[in-house]
Amino acid sequence: MRVLVLGAGFGGLELTSRLSEGLGDDADVVLVDQADGFVFGYSKLDVMFGRTTAEAVVHAYRDVVKPGVRFVRSVIRSIDPTRRRVETDDGPFEGDVLVIALGADLDPSATPGLLRAGHEFYTVPGSFAVREVLDGFAGGRVVVAVTSTPFKCPPAPSETALLVHDFLTRRGLRDRSEVALVMPLGAPIPPSPAASTALLTAFAERGIEWYPQRIVRRLDAERRVAVLADGDELPFDLFLGVPVHRAPQVVQDSGLCVNGWIPVDPLTLETSFPDVYAVGDVTSVGTPKAGVFAERQAAVVAEAIIARVRAEGAAAPYDGRGICYVEFGGGQVGRVDVTFRSGQAPTGDFDAPSDLLVADKSEFGTSRVRRWFGRDWVAH
Ligand SMILES: Cc1cc2nc3c(=O)[nH]c(=O)nc-3n(C[C@H](O)[C@H](O)[C@H](O)COP(=O)(O)OP(=O)(O)OC[C@H]3O[C@@H](n4cnc5c(N)ncnc54)[C@H](O)[C@@H]3O)c2cc1C
Repeated sequence: MRVLVLGAGFGGLELTSRLSEGLGDDADVVLVDQADGFVFGYSKLDVMFGRTTAEAVVHAYRDVVKPGVRFVRSVIRSIDPTRRRVETDDGPFEGDVLVIALGADLDPSATPGLLRAGHEFYTVPGSFAVREVLDGFAGGRVVVAVTSTPFKCPPAPSETALLVHDFLTRRGLRDRSEVALVMPLGAPIPPSPAASTALLTAFAERGIEWYPQRIVRRLDAERRVAVLADGDELPFDLFLGVPVHRAPQVVQDSGLCVNGWIPVDPLTLETSFPDVYAVGDVTSVGTPKAGVFAERQAAVVAEAIIARVRAEGAAAPYDGRGICYVEFGGGQVGRVDVTFRSGQAPTGDFDAPSDLLVADKSEFGTSRVRRWFGRDWVAH
């Protein structure tokens, strides 16, 4: 069985690890990614706020050494889902099964003024660059804002606003600063009212202004104001934006997308093309765009492939569940356990911030690095 996996993010790394564990050399797995290494989304915030260094959070793909898996560093230029074949800068690759885990690309230039007058903190280079911007910031009005939907990791803008508050407090700049958070959602974490209440309380305690169900469409660089979709304006001295998300161009050109993302069967992650699956941010499966969902979807696809190779019965269906850690500032971490099932209202449980959860979050990263890269790692 030749399995071709496109993208070595949360989805691709989990999928190939499981295939290697389950099938070893019985499978011929090729994993293709254009990057040097993997960075956890939350590590971007850690670098931005000076909790660790850029070098410490990049997990090099050369460390992906697993039975049955070959990592190819290359740019994928075209995808033919009918033949399950791709063209890359290093030639063509084909699979009996093709899994697309290419994530969501970020397009900061799609928001007028963002690159000129503000900063985006969602790409690896963008978030790492914000660290120096913050170092040089003398205080003033900070706006943290989302510029389109959907966007990855819905709690991340809330976490960022709380960490900005901490940063300014540490630097003695909070008294002469204001922090505002602009979000398209009606609540910080809609499926979990308890988590949302805890975050709204944390914003209120810290004097963080909360603008729900709003979105920033453009920045006026001359006047230093963010213009919202409804025409309202928010002045800023420092603008930290979540840029527009899209499926990577190569996916859009493949004929797999409907309304910008790849539709999949919500229980099996199969696309409309035989033996072609898609997992994670590149899909419109109905879960938020977050690594924990991509990882669990990848596990379902891996189990289906393993069952097929072993000629066993059907694998368990996808359950839509994800457990996310949420930074509350002050070194505190909470946890939400949410489930998104097709055709049902999402549900969510919340564990209040605690030291135990700080350790849990650390173990979350450490355990993935151990499994995916075969080495030890301490987040910070
Ligand atoms: C600030 C921030 C904080 C976050 N915090 C969390 C968190 O705490 N928990 C959580 O679960 N999620 C978090 N996320 C979200 C998480 O990072 C993503 O949802 C997750 O990485 C998606 O996994 P994926 O496998 O779908 O795609 P990705 O991990 O994005 O992987 C896609 C891969 O495809 C590769 N690729 C794309 N196009 C090509 C091409 N043409 N050729 C070759 N390779 C290509 C990319 O290089 C990339 O490695 C956060 C995100 C951000 C920005």
